[in-house]
Amino acid sequence: MNTEKAMKQIAMVTRATDGTIVASAAFGADIELFAEEVVELSKAEGALVFFESNGVRMEINERSAPQEIARFYWDEFARRSAKYRGAAAREEKNMIDLAAALPTILPIAIAWAEAQSRLVLTTGAPLTEYGINDAKAVGVATPESIRVAIVPCLPLPDDPVLRAIALDTRLLGPGMVGLTLGHAIFVVQGHDSRRLLTHEYRHVHQYEVAGSIAAFLPVYLHQIATVGYNAAPFEIDARQHEIH
Ligand SMILES: [Zn+2]
Repeated sequence: MNTEKAMKQIAMVTRATDGTIVASAAFGADIELFAEEVVELSKAEGALVFFESNGVRMEINERSAPQEIARFYWDEFARRSAKYRGAAAREEKNMIDLAAALPTILPIAIAWAEAQSRLVLTTGAPLTEYGINDAKAVGVATPESIRVAIVPCLPLPDDPVLRAIALDTRLLGPGMVGLTLGHAIFVVQGHDSRRLLTHEYRHVHQYEVAGSIAAFLPVYLHQIATVGYNAAPFEIDARQHEIH
């Protein structure tokens, strides 16, 4: 991953209640992981959180351009964190692999997703009135069609290439607790929080807008292949519609 790519990712500046300026950025890998690392590093080295008046290496204030911050963070992080550099390189490799495999893998992915979806639509539970209201609130047109299956773990495709891609891109990796395929939602046992469910309802809305699983998946997987999971516009949109 290079600086160009880092600059396409997310950066923001916030002012803490004590008046300090806190800048944060994420590029490629996991945003939460990055945030944790920033906190750790700033504790350890006191250099990744900057103050408005005189930043040691770069002054960051509320008018700083996101690109500037992202570039700064990337340079800083690349220099400091070999561990993170490794993670970023792996993420980039995954993106390349998926992009290359996408044309071949799409029909298999769609067939698998449609079969999984049908399974949940016949065996899953409909939403309660409360759930229907939440689904409507995040834009779902036909919330009564939604079915939710609570499962011990998310389903994995049998196809070895599709399975490897799903795990590598973290789409169906160990950290994942929800999966939406059309009006079918898988939720891992113990994770059926309002936040997760509204996130998945928003994906239902996205499928509704696309019109079908076969229409949605190519666009979604293309996003994952080009900018990664966290920066995928469909994921950003779903996160923005979570009700906490
Ligand atoms: Zn999502």
